[in-house]
Amino acid sequence: MAVKKSSGSRSGKKKAARTSGTAVKSRAKKTAAAEQLKRRAAKILAILKKAYPGATTALEHRNALELLVATMLSAQCTDERVNMVTRDLFKSYKTAADYANADPAELEQQIRTTGFFRQKARAIQAACRQIVEKHNGRVPKTMEQLTALPGVARKTANVVLGTAYGINAGIVVDTHVGRVAVRLGLTTTKNSKDAARIERDLMELIPQKDWTFFGHAMIWHGRLVCTARKPDCANCKLAKLCPSRTVVHS
Ligand code: SF4
Repeated sequence: MAVKKSSGSRSGKKKAARTSGTAVKSRAKKTAAAEQLKRRAAKILAILKKAYPGATTALEHRNALELLVATMLSAQCTDERVNMVTRDLFKSYKTAADYANADPAELEQQIRTTGFFRQKARAIQAACRQIVEKHNGRVPKTMEQLTALPGVARKTANVVLGTAYGINAGIVVDTHVGRVAVRLGLTTTKNSKDAARIERDLMELIPQKDWTFFGHAMIWHGRLVCTARKPDCANCKLAKLCPSRTVVHS
């Protein structure tokens, strides 16, 4: 009986040792993969810096309020169209109070061609009202205060903080950044629309001082090279570092 017990316990110990050895190996493998991914991300960042030096938004603006309004207008609309609209719009509205007190029908007309103009006009006016009432007419400088404004989500807040104020609070993840990040394997999700997860993953990989640049550079890369329908892998400077380079995208 005793002998049997002892042999069972020995085999149990061996099994436990094997399991713990496997766990250690798997942890080591994960650490090595994470380090390799960080090194690849650093190389990608370096290439983007050379390819798109000083990359920034294509939305024309002179201050944080103009950038906030332009970014709100850019939802489901091209930056070119937004710039065409804001050239006149910014002559009529110079302060948050101007938008807050505007005649809604008039504002709607002025932004009509950007699409979803009724919702956009409502959101701009509501956000500007809050800016006037709670922030003395100045666009706030924190993620918390910005995302508390009606119609302002994290992406818009990141654009304003990073580009108008030079504050690296996060990484802009729009449709281009989402798509390119997934193709480059810089995120754990395959869903390019999961902006929250993609942003979290990218923030782990990219140094904070480069967050704003990285977002803009990825947008330019997505627009010019890694397009949705036909990524130009043959002429892509990131091809050697891209796990999707041989994939045929439809
Ligand atoms: S190699 Fe192709 S899929 Fe990868 S980033 Fe470049 S264009 Fe996009």
